[in-house]
Amino acid sequence: MKQQMELKKTYKELEEELAKISLQLEEATDSIEAIRSGQIDALIVKGENGSQIYTVKSADQTYRMFIEKMNEGALTLNIDGLILYANSRFAEMVALPLSKVIGHPFLQFVPLEYKKVFTESIHNGWQAHNKGEIIITRSDGHCIPLLFSLSTLELDEGMALNMILTDLSLQKEGEQRLKETNEQLLKANSYVERMNDELELKVKERTKDLLISRENFKFLADNIPVIAWTALPDGTINYFNQRFYEYAGVDASEFFMNDWMQVIHPEDRGKTIAQWQHAIKTGQPLDIEYRFKYAPDDSYHWHYGKGLPYKNEEGHIIAWFGTSTDIELQKKELEQKDEFISMVSHELKTPLTSLKGFTQLLMFTTKQDNNNQVDGYLETMNNQINKLTRLIADLLDITKSKAGELQFDNELFDFNELVKEVAGEMQLTTIKHTIAIKLTTTVEINGDRDRIGQVITNLISNAIKYSPAADKIIISTRIENNKIILCVQDFGIGISRLQQPNLYSRFYRVLDTSEAHTFPGMGLGLYISKNIIEKHMGKMWLESEPGKGAKFYFALMIADN
Ligand code: ADP
Repeated sequence: MKQQMELKKTYKELEEELAKISLQLEEATDSIEAIRSGQIDALIVKGENGSQIYTVKSADQTYRMFIEKMNEGALTLNIDGLILYANSRFAEMVALPLSKVIGHPFLQFVPLEYKKVFTESIHNGWQAHNKGEIIITRSDGHCIPLLFSLSTLELDEGMALNMILTDLSLQKEGEQRLKETNEQLLKANSYVERMNDELELKVKERTKDLLISRENFKFLADNIPVIAWTALPDGTINYFNQRFYEYAGVDASEFFMNDWMQVIHPEDRGKTIAQWQHAIKTGQPLDIEYRFKYAPDDSYHWHYGKGLPYKNEEGHIIAWFGTSTDIELQKKELEQKDEFISMVSHELKTPLTSLKGFTQLLMFTTKQDNNNQVDGYLETMNNQINKLTRLIADLLDITKSKAGELQFDNELFDFNELVKEVAGEMQLTTIKHTIAIKLTTTVEINGDRDRIGQVITNLISNAIKYSPAADKIIISTRIENNKIILCVQDFGIGISRLQQPNLYSRFYRVLDTSEAHTFPGMGLGLYISKNIIEKHMGKMWLESEPGKGAKFYFALMIADN
């Protein structure tokens, strides 16, 4: 009856019902589409017992926003492992649109070899909070490492599993880079260690070398017949050789090196200390004579002391090396020689003066006879007597200058005049050489005109003597700092640097025996010349290169007008 009633619906009613159902169907289609695209938090899953719709209970907007903005992938799985919800970050991770993710089984993104392990992890996740690492495959086939964290979530439709996925690629890359850097570091470290070992080995070798050279030095220094010492750059003596202790008769274990001046003669101490301090201050070599205590006969012996600064590559003094040589015997010999010379030259002076007198008388008397030959002989005799007189005068000067008896006049004279006069006289003694004169404006000098003339004579006569193959000698003057500087330049045999400092010593000659015959002389000229210049508060020096000639200079103060 009822059925009949229902069947009896009017066409109009049926039409209205159809429109209602169509509307419902349309709405349902929209909902399903919305659910499919993830616009609403619900999902229809078709199972054996028909379709089932899941909705997320806590789907409020703030929470959704938060999940969407997360840097991690967020998923909700049902009991069958189907993805009920996924945020867009996860879709990005697998490089698929959300529609291809939601409703699909999560395991489809897990590579085959990890499927079993991860199924187990999911199973455990249903029991308790679970964490681990997993690899998933993106749609383009690339694998990415992820950190997963599983926890359960209660939905209206039953329990679901929440999964948070953190991309580890960057971290892994970082780890890889760290590993590589670490390996490089290890490599660098082992290289540094190797270098260190090599360096240590070198240092050991050097130390050994140093020890050997120190031993060698000590052995050498302790066995040489002269006294040797070393000092720090500030002048503190830090070593004396064995000879020092034996010579001075002091006990090495009791002697304080700083008391070294006690072995020097009291009269020479002041001068020695002053010169040593000057050497330390200026870095100039020490060159000195002093009397040194000689224990064997309880006396003092004359010593020649030399100290040389030892410099590093930067030119800084790092130590001083010195020697002290007993020159007592040489001094005594030289004194005897001086005495002998003094005596002989005095003895020679008287007969020579009379010889000169008579020669001049003869020259005067024979001139009237007009006998050229005899005149020539007498001229030669007179020249030779002049040479002999000069030689004896030199010898006498030596003994006088040593005894401090050399007399000097003091007069004002024209320097250029003197140079021209001497050069003119010297030109007469040589045929081969031309003496060129290049003089500055004339100046006046205060001093002994003859003695300074003697110096110029000596320099020109040396220039002639030691340049037999040359034909020119240049005499020049210049003014500098209120001083007149004279230079005598020749183009002869020259003098080596090594010999230069010795030239002003008495009887010193650079030449070897064969040369000594070629260039006669006694080695006195420069000694006397230097003495004369120094007595006038002047300075004497030279520049020379073997084979290229020599330039001898002296500088004298110009007189104040
Ligand atoms: P002498 O010439 O009598 O030997 P000096 O005292 O005048 O003595 O000179 C000392 C030494 O210096 C000479 O023996 C010579 O070896 C060297 N000497 C001097 N002047 C020159 C020079 N112009 N050129 C080369 N050597 C020189």
